[in-house]
Amino acid sequence: MSTVHDTTRGAAAHVTLPCPVCGRWNRVAAGRVTDGPKCGVCAAPLDLTHPIALTDDTFDRVVRETTLPILVDFYADWCGPCRMMAPAVDELARTSAGEVLVAKLDTEAAQKTASRFQIRGIPTVIVFRHGREARRQSGAMPLAALREMLR
Ligand SMILES: [Zn+2]
Repeated sequence: MSTVHDTTRGAAAHVTLPCPVCGRWNRVAAGRVTDGPKCGVCAAPLDLTHPIALTDDTFDRVVRETTLPILVDFYADWCGPCRMMAPAVDELARTSAGEVLVAKLDTEAAQKTASRFQIRGIPTVIVFRHGREARRQSGAMPLAALREMLR
């Protein structure tokens, strides 16, 4: 397991994610998510005000090691309802940064993870808390319904 570059102190709520540029793992304290955090290795911006892209390689560690609630949009590029919902997912990421980690999983590219979670229809939204699935809902939803899933 690679080193985690830790901006947290002790058990503060945090997000653990790979740098989109160099791939090294970073841990960002919830309180610093909107301060323009940067990768501890290559200094690339870690933008948590937009949904982060998960893959088969990164999904498990992000979900296991992030202590904030995580909302994952399981989608595909060809899916009309997914495209319809995308702006609401973006808006949730922008307005909930530091409280919720908003992520997207391309079910075509990450088929292992999609099949492990038995995703049959897309979009499907799953909320994870402390590494476990807490809620699941299929079908395009407006922003208010996404927020409701996080209550
Ligand atoms: Zn980096």
